[in-house]
Amino acid sequence: MTEHLMKILIVGDVCVGKTAFIHRYVKGQFNNMYKMAVGADFSIKVLHWSDKEIVRLQLWDIAGQERVTSMTRLYYKGALGCVVMFDVTDSSSFLRCLHWKRDLDDKAKLPNGGPIPCILLANKCDLPQRAVSAESIDTFSKDNGFITWMETSVKENKNVGEAMRMLVKEILSVQSSLDQLEPRSSDTVHPQQNSSLKKGKRCC
Ligand code: GDP
Ligand code: MG
Repeated sequence: MTEHLMKILIVGDVCVGKTAFIHRYVKGQFNNMYKMAVGADFSIKVLHWSDKEIVRLQLWDIAGQERVTSMTRLYYKGALGCVVMFDVTDSSSFLRCLHWKRDLDDKAKLPNGGPIPCILLANKCDLPQRAVSAESIDTFSKDNGFITWMETSVKENKNVGEAMRMLVKEILSVQSSLDQLEPRSSDTVHPQQNSSLKKGKRCC
């Protein structure tokens, strides 16, 4: 049995539903009020991915730090995947996704320097008052290197598990292609980059 440990970050503006998303995914419940916890905090979800593989997810909630202009490198350290979430009824939370994605790409990188897999979630799709069109989400998602985007409703439990499965699938595929590239990377990468690459790999 192989066990994969994955640190996954859930980022986005305040009130878009990040804590509700984690709560729904891990505990299968939805409330209207979530305790305001300050400081990064994580929850664990174990997936029996296949007969031979277990995936242990560490879901990191930014909990109360949404208004800081950039998160610390420590928060991003070792992350293998990310969810960027906005509220479809709030266009400013959508516009801020650019900031979240840039901050992420700046601070969390794969050992080969590429961006970590990231999914864009348009939450609260159960509400009638849409403020962002599907076309603009689609264009934004493609232009900014998201693996894909999905509409979710944490309230109605729509696409919560599906979105996470999509992200985990991408992380596993990226990790296995990195593993395959590993022997060759030593003769193609600059020596300095190569040493940090090896160090990064060991940390993870
Ligand atoms: P956070 O600040 O991003 O962690 O947002 P919360 O998880 O605290 O959610 C903010 C509010 O939005 C809460 O009142 C939630 O109940 C509500 N909420 C979260 N997801 C949904 C959803 O899919 N639909 C609706 N209608 N409300 C939601
Ligand atoms: Mg929260």
